[in-house]
Amino acid sequence: MIAREKGICLICGKEADLTFEHIPPQATGNTRKVLEYSGFNMLECNSNGTLNTQGIRYKQNPRGAGSYALCGDCNSYVGAKYVKTYSDFINNTRDLFESIKFEHGANSIQVVTDKLNPLAFFKQCISIFACTTQEGSMLDCKEFLLDCNSTSFNKDKYRLRLVAIPKETTYIKSTGWYRLIYDNGLCSGEIAEYMEYPIGMILYKLDAPCQEIGVDITNLSELPYDSKPTIELVLPYMEFPSIIPGDIRSVTY
Ligand SMILES: [Zn+2]
Repeated sequence: MIAREKGICLICGKEADLTFEHIPPQATGNTRKVLEYSGFNMLECNSNGTLNTQGIRYKQNPRGAGSYALCGDCNSYVGAKYVKTYSDFINNTRDLFESIKFEHGANSIQVVTDKLNPLAFFKQCISIFACTTQEGSMLDCKEFLLDCNSTSFNKDKYRLRLVAIPKETTYIKSTGWYRLIYDNGLCSGEIAEYMEYPIGMILYKLDAPCQEIGVDITNLSELPYDSKPTIELVLPYMEFPSIIPGDIRSVTY
């Protein structure tokens, strides 16, 4: 936790001196200088959503990716309770992708683990969305995030899905809430993406039907904190070749 800015904490909603929250956590390797581009500026210059950054204004962040999102108390709590579990999972998946030989025709990976604290992992995913979606839009997850034992995640409102991103990228895509408008004029529910190598997450609001992508892990929110049951996930391979929200494509080797 370093320099401070006044603002609203995105987990507890209090006005406070905000601390720098590394997103993703430092322990996943997020310690180097990053350039932060706004999606609007990018789209203005690349209307097809490609990732050409030439000549586009950016903010330089010497400490790594993240933002002034949380008060000191929330930052410390999340850091102590959830970050290690999440970081271990990300690092292990990265090691896996760096060591396996992708078989011809493969389009998903089976991850089996009995070392994951699923509730802690799930809560870190939700805290990343609280920090990367519109300010205050996830204050209804406050109790769930600030009591590690709480299983009060609102499953009638949200669904969380995971995908595998097997091909290494040097960029992160974080969309905040958006809606898709279909050809028939109907809108999807709100969707937020947080995509990075080697795992992408998509959070859906269930206020309207939507074609969803990835493995539904919402039920992990019901398991006791610090339980380590055997978890088996079959994560589809995906990529996010542009910055356009909703542009998530299947990968087959
Ligand atoms: Zn707070």
